[in-house]
Amino acid sequence: MLTSINPYTGEKIAEYKELSKSKIKKKLKSADKTFSEWRMSKFSRRRELLFNLAEVLRKNKTKYAEMITAEMGKPITQSKAEIEKCAWLCEYYAEEAENLLSKKVIETDAHKSYVTYEPIGVVLAVMPWNYPFWQAFRFAAPAMMAGNVGVLKHASNVQGCAELIEEAFLEAKFPKGCFQNLCISSKKVERVIRSKYVKAVTLTGSGPAGSSVASIAGQEIKKSVLELGGSNALVVFEDADLDETVQTCVQARFQNTGQSCIAGKRLLIHESIYDEFVEKFLMEVRELKSGDPMDEETFIGVLAREDLAEDLEKQMNKSVKKGAKIILGGNRDQTYFEPTILIDVKKKTPAFKEETFGPLMAITPFKTDVEAIDLVNASDYGLGVSVFTKDLDRAEAMIPHFDDGAVFINELVKSDPRLPFGGTKDSGYGRELSEDGIKEFVNRKTVYFKKIDG
Ligand code: NAP
Repeated sequence: MLTSINPYTGEKIAEYKELSKSKIKKKLKSADKTFSEWRMSKFSRRRELLFNLAEVLRKNKTKYAEMITAEMGKPITQSKAEIEKCAWLCEYYAEEAENLLSKKVIETDAHKSYVTYEPIGVVLAVMPWNYPFWQAFRFAAPAMMAGNVGVLKHASNVQGCAELIEEAFLEAKFPKGCFQNLCISSKKVERVIRSKYVKAVTLTGSGPAGSSVASIAGQEIKKSVLELGGSNALVVFEDADLDETVQTCVQARFQNTGQSCIAGKRLLIHESIYDEFVEKFLMEVRELKSGDPMDEETFIGVLAREDLAEDLEKQMNKSVKKGAKIILGGNRDQTYFEPTILIDVKKKTPAFKEETFGPLMAITPFKTDVEAIDLVNASDYGLGVSVFTKDLDRAEAMIPHFDDGAVFINELVKSDPRLPFGGTKDSGYGRELSEDGIKEFVNRKTVYFKKIDG
């Protein structure tokens, strides 16, 4: 049984029976059968269904958002925004997929030669609980438009969301078997990857989960994409607009109660504005409203599970032992973790080195551009970095020196259907969203027509 527990009230929401081996096989077989028809469908049909799906999402927004909030504690206004973003994603791929996947003509000695982008079959998505709809949709929308079919192994604590996502596809009139939820624990993932019906796997989650899934896929010679953790830096230079930057940095760290892979977890501040910026930042964070995640006024909810809150507390305590100072927060009550600010955080401190998945900001001063770059790259992760300065030439000159998969200037790192999303180093490999994302799970087929004399 997989159990959903409301992390705010502690109440059990529901239990979901895990699929047996034979039921898993039946679902995978049905996915494979659906693929043989779906791959032949025209873009116009796929487009129509994906637009339907966007409508279904908007129509059921409150119901879906309430399930997100109940299962993982996200404040309700942010849950609704997540559903809106999924609808936007569906519309983006409905509009753009045919163009993104159009054949690429390459001039050679041939009569004609080109590359086509064709579907590969059943793709398994292993997904996390922190954006339970968005993560699943950003896999599914491009996969469906490319002509693939999907099976979802969602995080054990958000099975209610997983079921609603499957229902949404059916309500939008996608053929049965195009998108199916597999209610299984992580122990059964290996069996699914090794199934002859499954052609590739994408995982969003932690490093250990990614490493395990990718090793199994590697043994089976199946493609994998990994979107793993992050410890993004926010770099504030002395000429940044301080008030605006403070607001952006607060959003970057504390939205989704800090449980985002691309959250700005390390705040690097130029020493000349350090005291002033820290003071302004502290004042702003102090104003964030914690409370019942179902309340529209709440900005800080609870962490999704108590063990995650305990882990964060341990990281904070170890960081304090290594010399960091708590200037705000620092207390935990079951799943609730106070918005917390640590200053004087050094490179070797857990809050700097490790990913902290909750409302905790680690602040470090720097003196020069070179030192700032060194601190940004000192992380084992490489999802993204934000740079705040009015000197755009200075910012642009630094871009090649960052290891990360994304650099945002005067903005928090965010996902956008039109832009590639993914990381380097321990943050994984491969890209989601945009043209890059839709081309991860396709057969790039080379076509060559020999010239015929006469
Ligand atoms: P997690 O424990 O790795 O779980 C993610 C998913 O992987 C869940 O479905 C989980 O299933 C499954 N899983 C766990 N161990 C597995 C294994 N050994 N083999 C196969 N599947 C396994 O991560 P999480 O704590 O739920 O999510 C938070 C992490 O995800 C953070 O590190 C965060 O940064 C990362 N994340 C990355 C991105 C990105 O795009 N880069 C986006 C969001 C989150 P169970 O729930 O059944 O264990």
